[in-house]
Amino acid sequence: MLSSKALFRMALLMVVLYACGTSQPARRNVLSRTSPPANQRPANPDAGKHPDQTTFTRPEQITKRKPREVRPTVNTKIERRDEPETENTATAPATYRSPAYYKNITDSIQRVAAKPSYYKTTENLFKEMAVVPDPKNPAVNSAWYTTVNFDARKPNFVILHHTAQTSAEQTLFTFSISRTSVSAHYVVGRDGVTYQMLNEYMRAWHAGRSKWGAITDMNSCSIGIEIDNNGTEPFSDAQMNSLIKLLDYLKDKFGIPQANFIGHSDIAPSRKNDPSKYFPWKRLADAGFGYWYDSSNLAEPPADFNAILALRVIGYDTRNQATAIQAFKLHYIQNDNTPMLTDYDKKVLYNVYRNY
Ligand SMILES: [Zn+2]
Repeated sequence: MLSSKALFRMALLMVVLYACGTSQPARRNVLSRTSPPANQRPANPDAGKHPDQTTFTRPEQITKRKPREVRPTVNTKIERRDEPETENTATAPATYRSPAYYKNITDSIQRVAAKPSYYKTTENLFKEMAVVPDPKNPAVNSAWYTTVNFDARKPNFVILHHTAQTSAEQTLFTFSISRTSVSAHYVVGRDGVTYQMLNEYMRAWHAGRSKWGAITDMNSCSIGIEIDNNGTEPFSDAQMNSLIKLLDYLKDKFGIPQANFIGHSDIAPSRKNDPSKYFPWKRLADAGFGYWYDSSNLAEPPADFNAILALRVIGYDTRNQATAIQAFKLHYIQNDNTPMLTDYDKKVLYNVYRNY
């Protein structure tokens, strides 16, 4: 004969077992998901519902390591900007912090917040992208059909920046916290160490308000690379070697045209001036990234050469002609930022323009 206490314990155990069995639906990896069993498929896929109710899971490593609830205390003041550069406003951080300081605090933030948040965001994006038709699209009112022929959209531009900060560690920190609202796919340190912070298929927040040709959303079609440099110093050999190695990889992986390796200042005239006049664009062009001119054979432009039209053909936003000229000169003339084109500047422009 069981006592009432034993009966109560058994009942409690059954309740717990039942709860465990029902509250944990089987999860499958998004990358290896298979079709749901026939009995779980909707009877009529054309009934206007979204039948694929697959539950997505983040990659294995993140499910094993549950993030702690405690967050580190961050005392550093970072103002909210749409890009990290401070070159136009010269608002460098008032207090110098060592790379070790930033590394220490960034390592903590990455562990407890940034990495879990990264996987959560990608998981949500995967979920959203897998749904067709878009339930918010009022224009689609047909039966549900999918195509079998597709892959992901690829970046077609590389935008180069200088960080205008004091160390790569500071930039890693800036991109690890949400309140700055800025990011890049890569950060290349002064010592040549290259960090990847975001998959290239994802959209980083590095271009801000910008225009190149007819494109007004450069973040959506580009890879952002931040080069650790304060804007008033040359770029080191180690850093340039690493950058060229990275550009080689990206050009090959995504088939990015030579013309589409450009600077932030090119796509945001007057608003941005990175990378600075110290940036070795010729060296990059010699390696196959962006165009340069043949200084030994500068042809005279024809009499009816229209400089503004040439700038527009290259891609510059010429709604403000003066700033378009300044942006061009920062890239190709470098030592003169007046908003006028000399005869020599026009020859350079004509020379560059003929590549497009
Ligand atoms: Zn920039």
